[in-house]
Amino acid sequence: MRPQRTEAIILHTFPARERDKLVVFLTPDHGKVKGYAYGARSMRTRFGASLEPLAKVRIGYVERENDEVVRIESVDLIRSLFPAQQNLAASVAASYLAETVDTFAQSGDPAELIYRLLDRTTEALLAGASPLHVVAYAEVWTLRLAGILPSLRNCNVCDEPLGRPLRFDAHAHGFVCPNCAPVDAQVIANDVAAALDAIMRTPVGEIAASEIAADVLFEVRSLAAFFRRNFLGHELKSYEILSGVLRA
Ligand SMILES: [Zn+2]
Repeated sequence: MRPQRTEAIILHTFPARERDKLVVFLTPDHGKVKGYAYGARSMRTRFGASLEPLAKVRIGYVERENDEVVRIESVDLIRSLFPAQQNLAASVAASYLAETVDTFAQSGDPAELIYRLLDRTTEALLAGASPLHVVAYAEVWTLRLAGILPSLRNCNVCDEPLGRPLRFDAHAHGFVCPNCAPVDAQVIANDVAAALDAIMRTPVGEIAASEIAADVLFEVRSLAAFFRRNFLGHELKSYEILSGVLRA
């Protein structure tokens, strides 16, 4: 039995047996971890309200031999997502971020970058940032960290530097130069390409405070969705719900 104590962000909880919860959480050093919080569903639980999705916590747990599910010993709340949940779009965006990270984060491996992405984007939602800006940022960066965002600098076919306008070729799964672009290549508007560049080099807080227009971000999101679906073979479960809320 190896005790661990680490910062973590709760991704999901499920009721387990009569009084317990199964908790999936993300840690910087051990990636995604699954653990039982015994007694967490009973009235007088020592875990309090700290096992809520996207709560940032300090968590103590014990790894058990030959068991991939750990035993959670203690949870101390660092930051609750509760204030953001008062706003429908922020609340749905938060669930979507949790699903995105849950889908792409691995178990057992260090996950410092994706942890930091989830931490900063959640913090931005709490600070009242535009959910559309935060979600577009998180989608592009998740693809980048998973290694499935094609280059924005070099042609996906011949590796020549890309100019403007950016051209997207679905068959080549990426951005291509004028020489490699087929006739049906999609020309990306310059403000959409500029938004992608800005997301790559700017912290989420600055993107959220920027003047990037909603229709530009919808274009960025639809490109991100193409690469994500292509990789996963399906769309995320909360994608449609989020789209409905963001359009409203
Ligand atoms: Zn080329």
